Amino acid sequence: MNCPNCSTSDTKVLDSRPTEEGNAIRRRRECDKCGFRFSTYEEIEILGLSVIKRDGTKQAYIRDKLEAGIRKPFEKLEYDSAAIRKIVSSVEQEIQKKARDNCITSREIGDIVMKQIKKTDKVAYIRFACVYRAFEDVEEFKLELQKL
Ligand SMILES: [Zn+2]
Repeated sequence: MNCPNCSTSDTKVLDSRPTEEGNAIRRRRECDKCGFRFSTYEEIEILGLSVIKRDGTKQAYIRDKLEAGIRKPFEKLEYDSAAIRKIVSSVEQEIQKKARDNCITSREIGDIVMKQIKKTDKVAYIRFACVYRAFEDVEEFKLELQKL
């Protein structure tokens, strides 16, 4: 990590603490050369995870894709990027718990996302579920709606 003030690469970590969601770390750093202090935010990346699609093909996991999918049902609702990020973080934590041999099915991810969106916002949940469940059991989805 280079110093933003003098660009030297000799900086030391004064303090590091995990964020509230637990999958990122904030570090307080100090430059050895000029004494400038700054903070960094480091996210724990899911590396090398494969997503098994419905047709059996594998794809590399891409956070941006997941985030875009989560962002969509929240369009025009009052959620800022931080709120969306928080959902993405929770989903990623679940993915890490569920993945076996660094693989997870797209269906498992869909279910995790649905669960997290449901916890957050009912309108977004219905929007997401309509799209997601369109390829699943329609009857099951109707039952879900009745429970709301
Ligand atoms: Zn410096």
